Amino acid sequence: MSRYAVTNPATGETLSTYPQISDADLQQVIASAESAYRTWGRTSSIEERAAVVRKVGDLHSERREELAAIIVREMGKPIGDALGEVDFAADIYRYYADNAREFLADEKIELAEGSEGTAVMRTNPLGVLVGVMPWNFPYYQVARFAGPNIVVGNTIILKHASQCPESAAAIEQMFRDAGAPDGAYTNVYASSEQVATIIADPRVQGVSLTGSEGAGSAVAEVAGRHLKKVVLELGGSDPFILLSTDDMDATVESAVAARLDNSGQSCNAAKRFIVIDGLYDEFREKFTAKMLGVTPGDPLSEDSGYGPLSSLGAAEGLDEQVKRAAAQGATVTRSGERDGAFFPTAVLSDISPKADAFREEFFGPVASIYRVSSEDEAIEVANGTPFGLGSYLFTTDPEQAKRVADRIDAGMVYVNVVLADSPELPFGGVKRSGMGRELGRFGAGEFVNKKLIRIG
Ligand code: NDP
Repeated sequence: MSRYAVTNPATGETLSTYPQISDADLQQVIASAESAYRTWGRTSSIEERAAVVRKVGDLHSERREELAAIIVREMGKPIGDALGEVDFAADIYRYYADNAREFLADEKIELAEGSEGTAVMRTNPLGVLVGVMPWNFPYYQVARFAGPNIVVGNTIILKHASQCPESAAAIEQMFRDAGAPDGAYTNVYASSEQVATIIADPRVQGVSLTGSEGAGSAVAEVAGRHLKKVVLELGGSDPFILLSTDDMDATVESAVAARLDNSGQSCNAAKRFIVIDGLYDEFREKFTAKMLGVTPGDPLSEDSGYGPLSSLGAAEGLDEQVKRAAAQGATVTRSGERDGAFFPTAVLSDISPKADAFREEFFGPVASIYRVSSEDEAIEVANGTPFGLGSYLFTTDPEQAKRVADRIDAGMVYVNVVLADSPELPFGGVKRSGMGRELGRFGAGEFVNKKLIRIG
């Protein structure tokens, strides 16, 4: 039976199901992606490709209401957030269209003294890529992968999360309507085994996955066996370090916003709040009050603090994690009880370094607070996790900001600012948060052949 279905987490109702692709049709998709690459990747102009990608961005803007409504029913995203996500995805496509020529320009290499001729690094595409994408930002996650790679000249086979078949189809339709040739961007409702088949196929050159550690390591294992390039954007347990502030209320506001964005289901949400001794009590009191004052509600209402979690299973899993944290000694304060997929806000403190909660990611509206006595200890706690995606640092001392930012083991450090992602800012992590970067110039440089052309 196909896993692909839209089940509204707010009501538990399954609204539609989608058949899984057959193995024979999958072979056709790979053949078509390879055939499209021969023209799209090798003979089309940058302007032609940029025009398609710009049009995909514009179609997101034109269809924003209908696109937003799809992800409200697929994964319970509050309508305001859903519209914001569609707008952000549109900006990403336009960003790559606008900057395509610059990102693909030859880079001249200065030759050693006495050498004759010239040398440049040319940026060529790699070929057919497979993207494996998650449910938490159905449009944005695809835009980060498809925007740069379609502009570069790669062709894409996209396997979206099984709970997002409707948004997956809507994205493919926008590529078609924007004039992308057959095979340049194809959506497939594939199983994990079929994803492995695509990666192993000699006509496919790379894979990008955003999702859990388990999915990342399964995909990377297959890619490694077949020597394919991999980009992974996995989980995170991002620290929010507070060392000094001249406005505690505003800092608390930022902390809550950074935790509850996307109903708490962002890989780069602030999840562990690491606070210097002298500010700890005030922060804990104000932060807990503010967190517990926010409650989940109807994702279609602009007044809801946040929505349901993406599925009943996700909410049950988070409940089990919070209960285990309490059983292992953490102090847990919750705003209420779970109601189906609607999960209350919760704040955990007094977490022992031996407890699972010290290392695990909480993918929902659950925050952990840690007390530290020095800058060094703050850095130690911040880095004391298997993850290394993003991080947040609040301090009024600019020298301290530079010093601490340098020592945090993460792919991104945001200082005195939250929710500041932007198309030009690279995104990605280290350690178990993955490898490679998306967005910005770096996002256009992952799946390319940086080819040396030396003319004597
Ligand atoms: P998954 O990692 O299972 O899903 C992400 C994508 O990977 C989906 O398209 C999924 O397909 C696919 N996938 C899963 N296993 C494989 C496999 N073996 N081979 C190929 N593709 C695979 O995420 P979950 O929904 O299970 O979320 C669980 C946790 O993952 C969260 O709690 C969070 O920690 C993390 N996560 C992180 C995200 C991020 O933004 N970095 C986003 C989402 C989740 P299918 O849906 O068909 O299973």
